[in-house]
Amino acid sequence: MSDIVTRADLALTRDLCDHCLGRLFALVDTGLTNKERGESIRMAVGLMRSLRGGTLPSHQSCWLCGDVFDSVPRFADAVMKQLSKLEFGTFLIGSRVDPEIQEREERLWSEVGGETAEPIKGELNREIGKIVESKVGRPVEFTSPDVVALVDTRFASVELDISPLFIYGRYRKLVRDIPQTRWPCRVCRGKGCERCHFTGKMYGTSVQEIIGDPIMRETGGSNHFFHGMGREDIDARMLGNGRPFVVEIREPKIRRIDLPSIEKQINDEGKARVEVIGLRESSRDEVRRIKSAAPHKAYRVKVAINGKVNKEKINEVLQSFKRTRITQQTPVRVSHRRADLARERMIVDIEMEGFDDPLLTLVIKTEAGTYVKEFVHGDNGRTTPSLSGALGVPCEVKALDVIEIADDTGDE
Ligand SMILES: [Zn+2]
Ligand SMILES: [Zn+2]
Repeated sequence: MSDIVTRADLALTRDLCDHCLGRLFALVDTGLTNKERGESIRMAVGLMRSLRGGTLPSHQSCWLCGDVFDSVPRFADAVMKQLSKLEFGTFLIGSRVDPEIQEREERLWSEVGGETAEPIKGELNREIGKIVESKVGRPVEFTSPDVVALVDTRFASVELDISPLFIYGRYRKLVRDIPQTRWPCRVCRGKGCERCHFTGKMYGTSVQEIIGDPIMRETGGSNHFFHGMGREDIDARMLGNGRPFVVEIREPKIRRIDLPSIEKQINDEGKARVEVIGLRESSRDEVRRIKSAAPHKAYRVKVAINGKVNKEKINEVLQSFKRTRITQQTPVRVSHRRADLARERMIVDIEMEGFDDPLLTLVIKTEAGTYVKEFVHGDNGRTTPSLSGALGVPCEVKALDVIEIADDTGDE
């Protein structure tokens, strides 16, 4: 205690408020506010000085903070005014403080020791947070608050940093002419031009827009992002159990939404183009999991056989491909966005579903990352072995559907 009084005596060479005095010793004990601690330390210093025949002048204006803590109720009001525009569950206060205040605080620490001190921002955030917490009836949350209210103490102004909302689901794409994600026009990059009929887009819509737009309307968000567990080609349908995705809504004004009703809305508006199932709340961690998953996939492929091959030969070739590794050089069609590499992939299973010469229907199950079209036609020798190579005739993919994403996410 005597060390505290000695250091406090030195600190009180300058006029400090109780907050700034108490905060120098914040780590010494718990259970007191800095203000309470400051009050009792000030009394101890006053007593010591009077025993020595000196005096402690009464507090006028804080040299360190300019009595910024008097404005805490005003800061809390400004925060609540901003928060009133939102629906949220948890919040956190952050603050920006005049750099000169922080410089003075560091100067004081260097003079009297800062090892037991708490920075001014910590106290401001906590004191504003206490008032807001009691008035809005929702708790401060440190690790993942729905919204951070950032108070600039110089102007008593408040900026909100609203956490994105994540919604998980699975989608089916029932048509062959829309991309998974929004695709800005290549010519105008989204501004609108003749090429895109002034839509700014290469395609009229996308799975992302069909799912994201209704959710954005409900939440009052500013933008949406789409995280799929891989993607199918534009001309491929996505059927079966659907593809897992997470939609990320930026700056939602409303977080609590009726997901079953949104699911219905998406499916009504998607009208036999896109369907969603199992919408539920999600998180950034799940986005990471979805982006790194590498599930096996099953496809139904319609192949035109351009030559004379009988059914026995086809069956023999299919047998030879079961649990077989193939090597694929990056297809020319994706070489603009992928490095030119040779990759080994496994054909897990392959079955004939029908043969109506020259049209062959196959169900092929592959390891993640297999280029199925290239496995069928051989990509001019860049995929070996290939179906076309093994049959000895050109093969052409007429239609491709993804019919299963074999992820083990434990969807109900
Ligand atoms: Zn002060
Ligand atoms: Zn354009």
